[in-house]
Amino acid sequence: MDHIYQDPHVDNASFKLHYGDLTDTSNLTRILQEVQPDEVYNLGAQSHVAVSFEAPEYTADVDAIGTLRLLEAIRFLGLEEKTKFYQASTSELYGLVQETPQRETTPFYPRSPYAVAKMYAFWITVNYREAYGMYACNGILFNHESPRRGETFVTRKITRGLANLAQGLESCLYLGNIDALRDWGHAKDYVRMQWLMLQQEAPEDFVIATGLQYSVRQFVEWSAAELGIYLEFSGSGVEEIATVAAIEGDKAPALKPGDVVLRIDPRYFRPAEVETLLGDPSKAKSKLGWAPEISTQEMCAEMVAEDLKTSRRHALL
Ligand code: GDP
Repeated sequence: MDHIYQDPHVDNASFKLHYGDLTDTSNLTRILQEVQPDEVYNLGAQSHVAVSFEAPEYTADVDAIGTLRLLEAIRFLGLEEKTKFYQASTSELYGLVQETPQRETTPFYPRSPYAVAKMYAFWITVNYREAYGMYACNGILFNHESPRRGETFVTRKITRGLANLAQGLESCLYLGNIDALRDWGHAKDYVRMQWLMLQQEAPEDFVIATGLQYSVRQFVEWSAAELGIYLEFSGSGVEEIATVAAIEGDKAPALKPGDVVLRIDPRYFRPAEVETLLGDPSKAKSKLGWAPEISTQEMCAEMVAEDLKTSRRHALL
């Protein structure tokens, strides 16, 4: 956030940072008391699905009870009338999907400690809206990505990994289930929608998605093509590999045809997998006039371009 950070010593600095922690009730209450906010966007979470199997209790504390702590702080301070609350809900709630595409009315079937914690957060948000008349709503966001995506989420792992391979900084990319299907949008489009949700007359829950679905494998192929690398997949299951079939241009000087760039590592398989997610954003489109402006493939190109810059810089060191 360097580009929006303001030195607190300049006059009229309007951007202020506070130390906060979703596991610390008194801290949250004090910040809300000081700030008296018009809008709260709860984007805080332990948000990695695979990590939630390793740290399920912490994930529940932050993602489920953390949401309750924020809502209770608003109530405790008597801010129910003033403060609007946005809860970052997730397509992971649909898990073992009960209907395709998934919409606001599709039943939930969470498949990870992360998704179960987020299910509590979803319903406690609905409950505070119904019980106390708070302006509180859920955005059920499908996967959203950008060059700022954490390096262990699959899109960024792919764009960063392939950019590093292209520059000779890594020797192979290891992934888990490359047949998983996701509805990936650009975070910029989704943040606009989050704000729109809090500008309505009445609070409501919305699915935010592109309505298009691709596989992890397809994302690998797009990313490679952005680097001028054309891949050939062979073998199956954990033996599947991707090799370089051809190279075009000068973005991948470290690779040559025949190099193996991708292997499967079962350590990245999840104890329970969400195989397929596809959202139906019709309600957001018709009620809020929202539509994503950046396609999944354009987003992929932007992520590869950013990671390539970094890899080239590192390759010179
Ligand atoms: P998620 O949808 O919130 O779990 O977002 P991720 O980006 O972490 O994972 C998206 C999909 O990619 C899931 O179905 C994963 O199983 C799959 N996947 C395949 N290989 C990998 C990997 O190496 N890392 C991650 N994070 N996901 C992977």
